[in-house]
Amino acid sequence: MPGLQKVLKGVLQYRELFKSKMVEKLVQISEHPQPTALLFTCMDTRLQPSVITMSNPGDMFVVRNAGNMVPHSDFCSYDHITTEPGALELACIHNPIRHVIVCGHSDCKAINLLLNMRDKKALENKDGTPLENWVKKHGLSSVMKFEQLENLGDKGSGPIIFQGASPKHTFEAFIDPQNEYSILDKLSQVHCLQQLQNIASQDFLKEKLSKNEVHLHAMWYDMKLADMLIFSRQRKQFVTVNEDNYLHLLEDSMTMPDHKEMEKPSPVWRG
Ligand SMILES: [Zn+2]
Repeated sequence: MPGLQKVLKGVLQYRELFKSKMVEKLVQISEHPQPTALLFTCMDTRLQPSVITMSNPGDMFVVRNAGNMVPHSDFCSYDHITTEPGALELACIHNPIRHVIVCGHSDCKAINLLLNMRDKKALENKDGTPLENWVKKHGLSSVMKFEQLENLGDKGSGPIIFQGASPKHTFEAFIDPQNEYSILDKLSQVHCLQQLQNIASQDFLKEKLSKNEVHLHAMWYDMKLADMLIFSRQRKQFVTVNEDNYLHLLEDSMTMPDHKEMEKPSPVWRG
C-alpha cells in the first residue's frame, strides 16, 4: 500500500481506535503539561522515538533532522539560524525541561555521507547540495574529533576528551572498546557526543548547566539489535540500557564527574 493511500488509511484507523481517547488526553495535557525531555534525533524512518521510549503525547519535545545535528552557537546568527537552537531555547527556557537527549543510531545515512565526503577531503568545499552542505557544516567538528580517535593508533578506542564549556562538562570517552562496530558507527557515536558540546555552547543555557538545572545525555540506537544505548560518564562509554543497569545509569546520568576524577580508571558494574 504505497504513498498517500497508506497515510490516509492510517488516519482512518486512528479515528476508529484512538481519536476519542486522544481528545481527553489533549485536554488533560493542555491543563497539566508535564513534558519531561527534549530529544534531538535523526529523521531515519527506522527510528521511532515514541516506540523505543514508550512515550505518549505530552511527554517529550522531539526535533528530528538528517544526522541528529545540533548546530554550535557559532552558527546561530540571524543570517544562519536553524531550528535546533531555537527548539532548545523553547524547551529549556520557555518550558521547564531539565533533560536534553541527543540520540544517534547505527547505519545512519547522513553520517555515511559525512564519512564519504571526509574520504574525498570535500569538507572544506562550500559547493554542494542542501544535504551535503548541512552535513559538512555541522558535521565537521565530529570528523575532527573522530580523527583524534584514529590518531591513537593501536589504542583504538580512546580515550578522547570532549571539552565542555566548563571543566564540569568536560568528559572522556572510549568509543566502541569492544571493537564491534563499523567505522561509520564509531563516527556516529563520536558525532552524537559532539552534539552535547554544541548544545553546551549556547549562552542562554550556560547558567542552567552550571547549576545542574539542565542535564545533557547522549543515546544511540543499535539498528541490528534494536537496543538503546546511553553514554555512561562513569564508564566513559556507551552502554546498553537494560533491567540490570537501569538504576546505575540513572544515577550516573545525573552526576558530572569532577575534572580531577578523569584520570582514575572507570568503575565496572554489570551491564
Ligand atoms: Zn540517521
